[in-house]
Amino acid sequence: MANSKQSSETSRDMGSLSGELSDSSNGAQKSGKVDQPRIERAVREILAAVGEDPDREGLRETPARVARMYAELFSGLHDQPERHLRKFFTEKYDEMVLVKDISFNSMCEHHMLPFTGVAHIGYIPNGKVVGLSKLARVVESVSHRPQVQERMTEEIANLLIQELDVKGVAVVIEATHSCMTIRGVRKPGSVCVTSAMKGIFRANLSSRSEVMTLIYGNRG
Ligand SMILES: [Zn+2]
Repeated sequence: MANSKQSSETSRDMGSLSGELSDSSNGAQKSGKVDQPRIERAVREILAAVGEDPDREGLRETPARVARMYAELFSGLHDQPERHLRKFFTEKYDEMVLVKDISFNSMCEHHMLPFTGVAHIGYIPNGKVVGLSKLARVVESVSHRPQVQERMTEEIANLLIQELDVKGVAVVIEATHSCMTIRGVRKPGSVCVTSAMKGIFRANLSSRSEVMTLIYGNRG
């Protein structure tokens, strides 16, 4: 059982991570499986449907541009996020590992509009530890698909349980949804916060409040 008082906070500076494989691959490279010509036809159709002329000069390249953009934004559909957690190493360390402020962008599946924000992932290992950037890769993979924030939060937590058999995992996501800020209720500045607490973080109030303090502690 980890002593929560001694938990260490890991720097979020992703540039200074050591022991990390130089894994330059990312989901966007998997975009070959996205049917871009089909997206182009659909975008052309939408432009015509809203009353535009898809053949006017400024719009001529738009369907192809949108197709490339969607291939990137939905590249996670062709990735298996769990693969990033399979490069773990065995370590006796059993205090909290926390990576804060992993920025992400995703697409709300209800409106196909972006939501953007940060994810914080804390876990207490059970013999298996992953390179810190792997957690960022998981966030990237899970976010680059049609999503809802609540499910994304759960998915990340469940992946750590499945793949690393962690003693506890806490995932907190804060995001701004453009479907709330530019349309509908139009509430700019509103931030949606979701959290998933599993294992020790669910069972033990002091572990839970500790991770929340580490996430939010240094904010005014
Ligand atoms: Zn939405």
